[in-house]
Amino acid sequence: MRKSILVFIVTAIIALGIFGISGRFTSTQPPDQQETEIITIEADHEETVKPTKPVEPIEAQEPVPQIKPIQLSVKPTVSYPGDTVFVQASQDGMITFNGKEYKLSSASSGHITFLPISIDQKPSELVIQWIPTEQSEATEEIDEDISKDSRQTKVTIKEKSFSTQYLIVTEEQEKMRRNTKKIEEDQKKFWKALSNPIEEPQFSGAFLQPLEGRFSTMFGYTRYVNGVLSSRHLAIDIAAPDGTPIIAPANGKVVLAESLYLSGNRVIIEHGIELYTYFSNLSRLDVQVGDEVKKGDVIGLVGSTGFSTGPHLHHAVYVHGYAINPELFFGSNPFEWGEEKKSLLKE
Ligand SMILES: [Zn+2]
Repeated sequence: MRKSILVFIVTAIIALGIFGISGRFTSTQPPDQQETEIITIEADHEETVKPTKPVEPIEAQEPVPQIKPIQLSVKPTVSYPGDTVFVQASQDGMITFNGKEYKLSSASSGHITFLPISIDQKPSELVIQWIPTEQSEATEEIDEDISKDSRQTKVTIKEKSFSTQYLIVTEEQEKMRRNTKKIEEDQKKFWKALSNPIEEPQFSGAFLQPLEGRFSTMFGYTRYVNGVLSSRHLAIDIAAPDGTPIIAPANGKVVLAESLYLSGNRVIIEHGIELYTYFSNLSRLDVQVGDEVKKGDVIGLVGSTGFSTGPHLHHAVYVHGYAINPELFFGSNPFEWGEEKKSLLKE
């Protein structure tokens, strides 16, 4: 009897427990919680049907034409006759400058080139204008109005006077300069070496001065030889003892290394983007045509070969076929050229 009562009590407790708890859950659950559960389900459902529902137009999804304004910069913005300026553009194309067109070369930092300033350039403001090539027109969407001003810049050319040098040479040396046939042969070799330019820049960072020594003849001197007007000295002469090593100012490829009539033993290094450095009157050549040289490599030794009055290096820099002042490159990086380059000149 006590056992049956106990069973009844236990059964009653269990029954109350089950129905009581479950009843409390169904009956006492707040309506807002139930709704929340339904909304959650609906929200899940919405996720799957979203693409078919009308959505608010988003600006990024609109078909916007790819307009790229062209940025053009020049360094330095103030320059001098016989110097060069460095141009960078955000897009490939051509540069028109002083009545000529120059092709931009592609580099990691943009599209670049050097522009030569004639040694006879009068003080003026010269316009540097970016124009598209057929290729750049085909591959880039170019806006005609928005970017019109950014594709044109200018460089101010200030006056610079060049000194005169009176050189006295022996009768034998004087005769050398009259052998025009041999001089023309050298000229042909010179232009041949420049005929197949490497488009990409081979240089990086600051250029080195190829030889330490006394600057015996500066760039641009008007030269009289034995009292007769001879030529402009479109190079810099650095006097140093016979046999002093001459180093490559930057990475490049040797495009000429041979003995020439007036220049003596000469090396020409190509640095890409139509920039060349010349080294003449060497006593020894340490490189051959085709050699890839690194900045600081010894390329030869100081000498007095060819038309020369003593041991020195006749060093020239050419940009797009124009001889420009080599000093601009000594210890400097064209990518970091400032507003005016004159402060670095050692005159
Ligand atoms: Zn010289």
